[in-house]
Amino acid sequence: MSDLNGRRAAVKDPLVDASGASPAARNSAPAAAGARGAASRASAASGHAAAASRRAAASHVACPIVAPAGDALPDDARSHASAARQDSPQNKLPRMGIAFAIAAAIFLVDALTTLDIAIAVLYVVVVLIVAPICSRRSMLAVCCALMALTVIAFVMSHSDIDMVPPIGRCIVSLAAIGISGFLTLKNIAATDVLREHVALLDLTSDALIVYDMKRRIRFWNSGAHALYGVSAEQALGRSPHEVLQTAFPLPLADMLAELRRTGRWEGELTQTCRDGRELIVASRWTLQRDLQDKPLAVLVTNNDITQRRRMEIEIQRQQQEIRAAIDAIPAMVWVSSTDGRPVFVNQRWSELGLPLEQIGENWHTLVHPDDLPQMKSDWSHALATGAPFENESRMRGGDGAYRWVLLRATPLTDDDGHIVRWYGVTVDIEERKRAAEALARSESFLAEAETLSETGSIGFSVPRFEMFWSKQAFRIFGYPDTVEPSLRAMLARVHPDDHARVSALMKAAGASSADTDRDIEAEFRLTMPGGAVKQVHLVAHAVDAGHEASEFRGALMDVTEARNVQDALHRSLAELAHVTRVTMLGELSASIAHEVSQPIAAIMTNGDAGMRWLDRDEPQLNEVRAALSNMLRDAQRAGGIVQRIRTLAKKSAPNRAPFDLNALIDESALLIQREIGIHAIELDLQLTDDGLTIIGDRVQLQQVVINLMMNAIQAMAAIAGQPRRLTVRSSFSQDDGARVDVVDSGPGIAEADLQRLFQPFFTTRVEGMGMGLSICRSIVESHGGKIRACSEPGCGATISFVLPNSTREEKREPVAVGHT
Ligand code: ADP
Repeated sequence: MSDLNGRRAAVKDPLVDASGASPAARNSAPAAAGARGAASRASAASGHAAAASRRAAASHVACPIVAPAGDALPDDARSHASAARQDSPQNKLPRMGIAFAIAAAIFLVDALTTLDIAIAVLYVVVVLIVAPICSRRSMLAVCCALMALTVIAFVMSHSDIDMVPPIGRCIVSLAAIGISGFLTLKNIAATDVLREHVALLDLTSDALIVYDMKRRIRFWNSGAHALYGVSAEQALGRSPHEVLQTAFPLPLADMLAELRRTGRWEGELTQTCRDGRELIVASRWTLQRDLQDKPLAVLVTNNDITQRRRMEIEIQRQQQEIRAAIDAIPAMVWVSSTDGRPVFVNQRWSELGLPLEQIGENWHTLVHPDDLPQMKSDWSHALATGAPFENESRMRGGDGAYRWVLLRATPLTDDDGHIVRWYGVTVDIEERKRAAEALARSESFLAEAETLSETGSIGFSVPRFEMFWSKQAFRIFGYPDTVEPSLRAMLARVHPDDHARVSALMKAAGASSADTDRDIEAEFRLTMPGGAVKQVHLVAHAVDAGHEASEFRGALMDVTEARNVQDALHRSLAELAHVTRVTMLGELSASIAHEVSQPIAAIMTNGDAGMRWLDRDEPQLNEVRAALSNMLRDAQRAGGIVQRIRTLAKKSAPNRAPFDLNALIDESALLIQREIGIHAIELDLQLTDDGLTIIGDRVQLQQVVINLMMNAIQAMAAIAGQPRRLTVRSSFSQDDGARVDVVDSGPGIAEADLQRLFQPFFTTRVEGMGMGLSICRSIVESHGGKIRACSEPGCGATISFVLPNSTREEKREPVAVGHT
């Protein structure tokens, strides 16, 4: 029983002959193991029994160290164990032959000789010889046969002599045969039980290994073979740890010490298969002791848990990965139980300054007291109804400051629809909240600014003309907010006289929708339902709205008031200009008187002459006619002068029309002829040969020219001992349009005065008003032009103005400037 090595058992124990003498059965062990590997652990008992019979037939191991009592084996297993003990016919024959020969010899000696000894006792030898190859039944038959031979031999050899002693010897022989047969039968029965148990041990898919106290493997089941790929022949007699290259979780000495102390050890080991694969096994060691409690052997049960362990490791890795991902989410993630208690919070919550483990219980201490009641109410409602939870509250951060957060949670339900968990996320929305507040503030500012400036925002997409109007735009159009903004609604308000122009403008805007580099600008009138008329200014710029469409965004300004003010200003300006012109005419009165008196004097002279020609005895009518003709001419000239002065003095509304700028300069020179003469000014008119046509108010622009020439004359009047030269130059350029330079050789203008020359009431003259240049600038700028002065002190001054709304005409007719 203590012999654990199947091969050795085959030598010492006749029972092992069956396995040791059956190489075919041995060779079939791996196949049987393969079949076992394929068999499910969950096989039914019947399946196990069938498999047991196959394995029992193939089993080559024979000596378990544990031989539990009881013989509750499946019948198949039992019969196969018995069958396995029986030899093949080839192996049986020699043994049977020997047994038969011995039995025959004993019978012949016993029957034919008269030896007074119990020769038949030697039949015990025959029993022992056939015992290994017999079943219990055949052993019984052998015993009966041998006993019969004994009786037959006795009858044949003891018929006529004293029968008492021989009968005694015969009975002894029969008893010996019977006892030996009985013992052999018992042995056969016990061996069969052992074989059955071995077969059962082989049924397990666990690897069963037994090694003795010298760490030599004594038992290696087919489960071990299947698991490690190492056969029993390769393993027996070697150290299990060497065969399996076992890696121990603890020092081996400590593990063995525990085994000796408690009789057991359990743990996980890493072992290497024959093909080099590493396995993780759950290993259970049990120490077997002999009757003297001396350690005898160690039974090792190894169960492959590699897959399970790898799956556990993989699951653990995935869990860690998910955990890391949840911790990395830029939001505070939480899971709560159905009663609303947080059961999990991610790492982000640590930013709130509370230890993570405390957040579950104390989350409400982080909520702003003003927001807590609402949050609790929302949360209770969600828990009670199962509706998704959403709440915005302020929460205290790690720095102690409260920040706005958005809390959202949704329930997880089981198959029956019962809520099992709440999954929530808390997102910091402080920036968004601030941005929203800033947006609301700026929207309110914009609305305020729109109201104050009477400017509405307007936008429309092209080509579909979907419109947007701000509240102020609704007010400007005179529509309630409920009206759908549309092009039709807009055009319905446009003044009938402007309707065609605005429609054309909008149509043009929608024409090339993909072109974004476009602006539209228009000023037009709106007619309100009550009949009131508004003047509005629309300006918009096209931006790309994607999908080959663009959108105009702009402003609609109510400029009614501004236009009214502007008109009033223009009126004031015109009146002021008129006043200054009249003042200027006052200054020119000497020149005007001189100019007018000249033709009148000539008329008088011609009148006198005419009278004289008439008073002659023979009136000289031809001479009279000539004198009258001269009178007519001079009267016309005087009338022209008066007309020009009346025009300048007339108070008329600004009137724009085309006129020739050079002619205007010529005429202005005529008007100040007297001043030029009085102050001994050399006038040099350098006018373009081509005509310069200006669209503007002729009277206003003549006022500008006269003013500039008079200023130059007055400035030069102060100098003596050097020429007083006044040059008026006209020119034209594509960039600036018409340009007039009034250049003098006077004292020039001081640097400091240049800055404020055009400011109202700036004058250096005692009798001056300081309004001349200021009005000149207003007039020039109202014509879209610019006026500027430059001067080098001591070298005279140049005042220039440009008028962009001008064209050049080929070859002007020279205007004669009359000098007297
Ligand atoms: P006023 O002639 O009533 O002084 P103006 O507005 O016409 O008002 O001129 C303002 C001032 O500009 C003048 O007082 C004078 O000092 C200066 N100024 C104008 N033209 C010239 C010039 N050609 N040379 C020097 N100073 C000038």
